Amino acid sequence: MIKTLESILRTEAGDGFFKRLPGEAKSAVGRNVRRGTKAAAVRSKRLIIKRLRRAQPNAIRNELLAILCACRKGRRCCHAACPVCTYAMQNLLTALMQDFRGVGIQLDTCMTLIPRLRILLSEAESPQGEDAIKIVEHLRAKLERAFDEAGVTLVFGSIDYDVNEFPQGQFKAHIKPHFHGTVRSSELTNSSDKIIRKNFKSGGSVNVPVLVEKFDGRDEWGRYMFKSPDRRKLRKQVAPKDRASTWLDSQYKPQTVAQHLQQLEILHLTGWKLRIFTRGLSLRRNRFDTWQLHVLHHTKN
Ligand SMILES: [Zn+2]
Repeated sequence: MIKTLESILRTEAGDGFFKRLPGEAKSAVGRNVRRGTKAAAVRSKRLIIKRLRRAQPNAIRNELLAILCACRKGRRCCHAACPVCTYAMQNLLTALMQDFRGVGIQLDTCMTLIPRLRILLSEAESPQGEDAIKIVEHLRAKLERAFDEAGVTLVFGSIDYDVNEFPQGQFKAHIKPHFHGTVRSSELTNSSDKIIRKNFKSGGSVNVPVLVEKFDGRDEWGRYMFKSPDRRKLRKQVAPKDRASTWLDSQYKPQTVAQHLQQLEILHLTGWKLRIFTRGLSLRRNRFDTWQLHVLHHTKN
């Protein structure tokens, strides 16, 4: 599916996804809002190129810098670490999701799943690439297992990477890979919900590992799922020490340069291949010669 998505963006028709004027990217619970515009994506790409040029060079950074510098109209890189191409991918995936709703199969529930696993930020300012890949693969296997056990056959979503920082010093700063997606409420029975919650438990710095909300079809959620990770969360412990810890996202700030570079390296190494997470869906060209999401097997509606 990833190759097809990239090839759509590289066609003349795909050029439109680089031009759209989107609204906001908003989380299902409505607290986290980003204003996503083409201009912001262009600014963000410029900043990345500047930071990569100033950073201590290494093989990954050199490769990424070459890719981003070569990305321009007519020769798009479609890379997961490129904010301009991520912006277009966001628009494309959101449009596909809207079309899919149009054919009557409702992905009507938003789901966020936060595992305990994390990618530690290294002091050497460069994450252990193989470790990062393994951790993201581990999360994907965990998701597959949980959805298998719960009988959830249709999923459209993505893996997101936030930087978490703990000013009170309880945990080392880390990148938390987590899942945002849409599923069907008809597949979320009490028992399947229980199974998913058994697979994603609270503990460590995670106090709400499973978030389920009704999805009203807003484009904002589609954009939120596939946004460029761009900030760090400061997390504060709010419960007394003798009780179960409760964590609050006390503040959102831009990442430090070192955190930003490590986040970019993770995006570079894992790519859209490990970011986009779907189950039971494929992309097919319809008779009007446009691409649409299709259900792979017949599943109960
Ligand atoms: Zn690009």
